[in-house]
Amino acid sequence: MPTELTQAIVTGYTDYRDNDRMLTLFSASRGRIDCKARNCRKPTSKLLACAQPFVFGEFELFVNNDRVTVNACDVRETFYPLREDVDRFMTASICTQLCNTVIEHESADEQLFSLLYHVLSFLAYSDSDPNDLLIAFLLHYLDHAGYRPSLTRCAICRRDVRADAVLYYSAEAGGVVCAACPHSGKPVDKLVLEAMRRILLLPHEELRRVVLKTELRDAMLPLLKRACLHMLGQNDRSAALLDQIG
Ligand SMILES: [Zn+2]
Repeated sequence: MPTELTQAIVTGYTDYRDNDRMLTLFSASRGRIDCKARNCRKPTSKLLACAQPFVFGEFELFVNNDRVTVNACDVRETFYPLREDVDRFMTASICTQLCNTVIEHESADEQLFSLLYHVLSFLAYSDSDPNDLLIAFLLHYLDHAGYRPSLTRCAICRRDVRADAVLYYSAEAGGVVCAACPHSGKPVDKLVLEAMRRILLLPHEELRRVVLKTELRDAMLPLLKRACLHMLGQNDRSAALLDQIG
């Protein structure tokens, strides 16, 4: 029988029929896997525990042509505290949905998997502010997708702007913009740029060290939201997903 084992996180699901569920899995080695979990919503099902959002486990999959069904799962981590806190649950949902928009079938992505795994762990088990973890996730997510914000050079003229007194930020241009280049809105606080630079230097396993002052957090979230919208494209789905960000 063509079964295979893969370590994956449940990044989405859709219920169908009375007791079934279609799962989206993010596997570090295989990317996105859409699979059926039959009868998993029955209280007696051996799949009940694994067919839940954010669960990390080793999934045994039955593969028949392009149809994949979950046979069994050795659950390694449920990140259970996420279910007990609305803000943390929402943040975890945004992170998993953002992963779903970029992961591809049969395409390994260990870096993004590591980012998601660590951010889910810190959301569940650390006392970090969920918005600080979301900011850290978004910066690394943009970087991973090739949209690392330009922070020391003007995103338009490429001049080194570290000594400039007044700077702007353009999500569309891809980072900081000098006063001589086309810009809009208010100048950006240089502490915002410095915080972004430092967060990008942290490895995933140290992202719980991100602790931002309220002013910085409030300034960074809208910039990163616009950067993600620019990256994903201005369509209803991206807009609906990113509107969940505060
Ligand atoms: Zn410039």
